Amino acid sequence: MADATLSHVGIAVKSLDEAITHYTAITGSKPIMVTEVADQKVRVAMFSSGGEHTGGRIELLEATSPDSPIAKYLEKRGSGLHHICIYVDDIEARLSALKAAGYRLIDESPRVGAEGNRIAFVHPSAGDGVLIELEEKKQ
Ligand code: ZN
Repeated sequence: MADATLSHVGIAVKSLDEAITHYTAITGSKPIMVTEVADQKVRVAMFSSGGEHTGGRIELLEATSPDSPIAKYLEKRGSGLHHICIYVDDIEARLSALKAAGYRLIDESPRVGAEGNRIAFVHPSAGDGVLIELEEKKQ
């Protein structure tokens, strides 16, 4: 998998159950996964036409706690596009390269994302206003 492939877009929602209803109607399919990511204080639903670990998916994110990053986002900006996620081959190499080039990172080292892949967030200032998630594709 070459870099720069879109893994998914992340959408911050107030109610995951309601958003699942909306996106089931929009996509004509049910989420392939609904799970909680405790360390990010979110509940996540993933829609995909191609199954797990394929590109171009839709991720819905609901806060599970008032101090969740998603709760803070909803407070400031309301529901909507929260981040885009790009697949990379070697996440540590990409983070080091970005850091060396002076880009602001939210995660200096990778952590484990909702689907078990290693992920890291790059500050929106690096992505021209868009929060960027990097995801290392499982080999
Ligand atoms: Zn994501």
